Amino acid sequence: MLEVFQMAKLYFRYGVMSSSKTLNCLAVAHNYETYQDKPVFLIKPSLASNGEYVESQTGLKRKADLILKPSDIDILPHILKTKQKIYCVLIDEAQYLTEIQVYELTEIVDKLKIPVICYGLKTNYQNNFHGFGGAEALIRWADKLEEIKTVCFNDHCNNKALHNLRLENGSPCFEGTEFVVLGNINSHNIEDRDITYKPVCRHCYKEEMNNYTKKREVVETCV
Ligand SMILES: [Zn+2]
Repeated sequence: MLEVFQMAKLYFRYGVMSSSKTLNCLAVAHNYETYQDKPVFLIKPSLASNGEYVESQTGLKRKADLILKPSDIDILPHILKTKQKIYCVLIDEAQYLTEIQVYELTEIVDKLKIPVICYGLKTNYQNNFHGFGGAEALIRWADKLEEIKTVCFNDHCNNKALHNLRLENGSPCFEGTEFVVLGNINSHNIEDRDITYKPVCRHCYKEEMNNYTKKREVVETCV
């Protein structure tokens, strides 16, 4: 039994937007490298954002050791090529990984016996996996699924946030595909629309979804 507990594992630590996932990821890297003098290997999917740094909203950042394009298949050879022993592999914005890349992570765990910790969103603003194949694959392949929790951002609501509510010019919106293209950016502009995301609980998400559907029905009836 002891051997089982000592095995390396593949972790998927998921949470909604603004739940400090990247900060958690960078804190783990800092812990390994600064306090224990144990090098880690930090990976960032190219779809997450431009640039070679993994950066949290607090400003804390670290250069990624590998930027993964969706077409990249190999990860394990990059780990083997490093001159120093790697104690942990960390991935930020793991929802953007491909199925093949997630499988490659299981190879790092099973063959190299190195723990791999992935941080990312579980579902998109439409509450499905579209554009987030990495999250879906990790839910199927990971040894451990761990939720990074935060509370609903709506005033006077203390429920746990489970969904990413998309706001266009301040109004909830449940359509459009730009989220997938532009990645995990908390705020951006498309044409004249200001788009932001708010973490909300299931109750608030469903309420907004029902209001949105009713408004659509009214508009369609008028036309
Ligand atoms: Zn709520």
